[in-house]
Amino acid sequence: MNKGNMQFADFNLISVLQHAAKWHGTQEVITHSVEGSIHRTNYSDVYKRTCQLANALNKLGVQSGDRVGTMGWNTWRHLECWYAISGLGAICHTINPRLFPNQIEFIVNHADDEFIFVDLTFVPVITGILDSLPQLKGLVVMTDEANMPELGDIKIPIYCYESLIEDKGPSYTWPLLDEKCASSLCYTSGTTGNPKGVLYTHRSNILHANAAASGDVFNLNPSSTILMVVPMFHANSWGIAYSAPMSGAKLVMPGPNMDGKSIYNLISKEEVSISAAVPTVWTGLLQYLDESELSVSSLKETVIGGSAVPKTMLEKFRDVYGVDVIHAWGMTETSPVGAVNRSNPLIEKLDINDQTTIRLKQGRPVYGIDMKIVDDEGNALAHDGESFGNLLVKGQWVIERYYLSTETAVDKDGWFDTGDIATIDSNGFMQITDRAKDLIKSGGEWISSVDIENTAAGHPDIAIAACIGIRHPKWEERPLLVAVKKDGSELTAKKVQDFIGTEHAKWQVPDDVIFVSEMPLTATGKLDKKRLRESYFEYYNTFAVKH
Ligand code: AMP
Repeated sequence: MNKGNMQFADFNLISVLQHAAKWHGTQEVITHSVEGSIHRTNYSDVYKRTCQLANALNKLGVQSGDRVGTMGWNTWRHLECWYAISGLGAICHTINPRLFPNQIEFIVNHADDEFIFVDLTFVPVITGILDSLPQLKGLVVMTDEANMPELGDIKIPIYCYESLIEDKGPSYTWPLLDEKCASSLCYTSGTTGNPKGVLYTHRSNILHANAAASGDVFNLNPSSTILMVVPMFHANSWGIAYSAPMSGAKLVMPGPNMDGKSIYNLISKEEVSISAAVPTVWTGLLQYLDESELSVSSLKETVIGGSAVPKTMLEKFRDVYGVDVIHAWGMTETSPVGAVNRSNPLIEKLDINDQTTIRLKQGRPVYGIDMKIVDDEGNALAHDGESFGNLLVKGQWVIERYYLSTETAVDKDGWFDTGDIATIDSNGFMQITDRAKDLIKSGGEWISSVDIENTAAGHPDIAIAACIGIRHPKWEERPLLVAVKKDGSELTAKKVQDFIGTEHAKWQVPDDVIFVSEMPLTATGKLDKKRLRESYFEYYNTFAVKH
């Protein structure tokens, strides 16, 4: 082999922020803060504070390989945590605060988090389960002294973020890490049982962020202003927390304020040119724009993913507000960007309805990701836009195994089965047609139908229960329980909902319980969810209207 003569350097995530601070130091980083005000800073200052935080973490005894949790909204402080924790070689574990307390307890213990950085909003969530987190050495509340909550008697140290970093040095000697080192950890809901951890590396995150910043994905540069609505605790904010500083883009973050009015205010005041969020957020914005007869003239594009984009949403953005919707598909296991639907000259020649049909697909794989659809025997299916099968992916930022699992998550050729069912057309546009995994996605968050069924089946008056996802005008999908009562029972929907509410977060409780005399079963005796979905998927347009 003729070895090339080029330099080699391991990818380290801190280099992204160093680049931003050195070459785009005055570029702005704006947050609608948890405390309520609009906070303005820039990459230079974020980097300086990241160094201060790394010094503080050192002082707390955090070492390479340790896990440090964050439970926070998208803010400049959360950004500093990401870079400081990974930069010094520790692992930044983003905790999804929307999980039920016993799931949070599970993931914090599974990850063995030593410290947790927590936003004011979520302090009660963590303090409520502290007794079950024996390994936790301290909490850092991401605020200043003036806003520190009164916490009473807490058995571990509670630090105030601003006080913790204020007297620390503004520079830090970052270690040169092997690029295959773990940098961050994010848990995804299992079909059943406990969440599973996806452990990213410095290398996978940088390759992913490079691709996400590129022209075929977010198309970022210093003239872009990107509103990062997609949470940093959910699939890495689609890589934007790395891609924006990498490209010198102005970064705008909503903190906890994701209602239509707050999003509109940020877009108009900060002249946002591109944004990214799940459909639910855009439903809120569009409603607000309609009601207030406002427009969003700076916004040119919005990337929407996590759930399928409704046709009406794409058309309204395009035809009424002049915003191009870029549909995208991905998952926590794929860092998450997998496929993106940007237009091309061929599509632009089509009539508007044909364009819409194609633009509603989930898109083409970005370079770095390969994709195929296969039948149940693993045979590859044609890219004819009609054959549908299991969607398999592989690539530089796709999972190989779940955190602490001894089993690989991929087949012998490295393909990861996404659990999605898809078609691929002759132009390479992939479309999700169904989901093989038993999960319901409500407002971008997962609900395990199997878990809900198991809880419901534990009710003494329920003979059998099935939980399915139904279409919802705001949340995309919501859970519905279909159940058979035991003979003579007087059970009501409300009683079943209250029962499920004792074990699941409120937003995971089914919207309704429909009692049937007989449950449809498949030939192999399983719950026939396909039939149930056929009957009830349009519940909100049919059944709910009549009752
Ligand atoms: P998560 O790991 O929570 O990001 O969820 C990933 C899953 O969300 C995928 O496997 C799909 O089932 C679903 N998903 C993501 N993006 C889309 C999309 N654009 N359209 C339909 N489903 C999507």
